[in-house]
Amino acid sequence: MAGLKKTIIRTGLETLYFSGLHHWMRPLVGGVGAILTLHHVRPPRSDSFQPNRLLEVTPAFLERLLRRLSRARIDVVSLDEMHQRLISGDFKRRFVCITFDDGYKDLMRWAYPLLKKYQLPFALYIPTSFPDRLGELWWVALEAVIAQNSRIGMVIKGKDQFFECGTLREKRELYDAVYGYLRSMKTEVKLRRVVRDLCTCYHVDIGSFCRDLCMSWEEIVELSRDPLVTIGAHTVNHMMLKKVPNDSTVRAEMEMSRSVLEAALGKRPEHLAYPVGDATSAGPREFRIAGELGFKTAVTTRPGVLFKVHRDHMTALPRISVNGEFQRQRYLKVLMSGAATAMWNGLRRVNAA
Ligand SMILES: [Zn+2]
Repeated sequence: MAGLKKTIIRTGLETLYFSGLHHWMRPLVGGVGAILTLHHVRPPRSDSFQPNRLLEVTPAFLERLLRRLSRARIDVVSLDEMHQRLISGDFKRRFVCITFDDGYKDLMRWAYPLLKKYQLPFALYIPTSFPDRLGELWWVALEAVIAQNSRIGMVIKGKDQFFECGTLREKRELYDAVYGYLRSMKTEVKLRRVVRDLCTCYHVDIGSFCRDLCMSWEEIVELSRDPLVTIGAHTVNHMMLKKVPNDSTVRAEMEMSRSVLEAALGKRPEHLAYPVGDATSAGPREFRIAGELGFKTAVTTRPGVLFKVHRDHMTALPRISVNGEFQRQRYLKVLMSGAATAMWNGLRRVNAA
């Protein structure tokens, strides 16, 4: 299923690019700006089984992107500046915000020097349990369990089931199936329990990923001193908020992460990103609560570019994911033109339901 979707996306992007249709559609769908989402930036790894590769781009790709942005007639702006332009209706030039989710160490090593070199502002959304070393990067843990074993047992609907995952193909299929099964669960508490059980069973230390991959508080404090950097909140426990039953927990997740960041950095974050951020993870309730808490902006991962009308939907902003599976400049050109996401959204400009 995921493979099929990928093919459609890729073919769609190729078609739009080679037909030139994205240029033609630009006045109709181009919008006033865009927010880019990135996660990891690091050199390519040689492992053939990398189900989470979509979450990383290479330093070389990022540099080409930054060079292109700094030469284009596009302003790369901070989240505050984006907010200001949307509020005041300043749309003389198109603008782009660069955002990184989760606060991975590789940003410090590979992306930060490039962003400094081109003097481009960017934002970092931190789930505070990650630098507190209590975060569970369950999608990475699942990858490790499947990578290190050739047969996995799981209890599904009360029954013990076993799955072969000796070959690359089996590993990929099993990852997609288990990932889909986990994401379909009603609450994240259940999802976490399943992954924790798998980790215990197959001797994978789920806490190690947070320690090895995520920035420490010292690193975050150091980054936050740079005027190019905006630190935003990303909740405490990085849960899919829409699946959290009670409003008070959703509110506490947002509010607590803001307070913890404020205490650590001496500056109160005014921007938020919803964990995971797609339509199954953040919806109208979350958009309302973020607004009530006074966040200036909050971003989803729903695909789309920004339009003037988004000034009325500041806590439900779409983003363009810079996907590691499609590291070609032309794909990004098509995505940022708004043509592909317009098709995705059925030509609706705002997707906040
Ligand atoms: Zn995240």
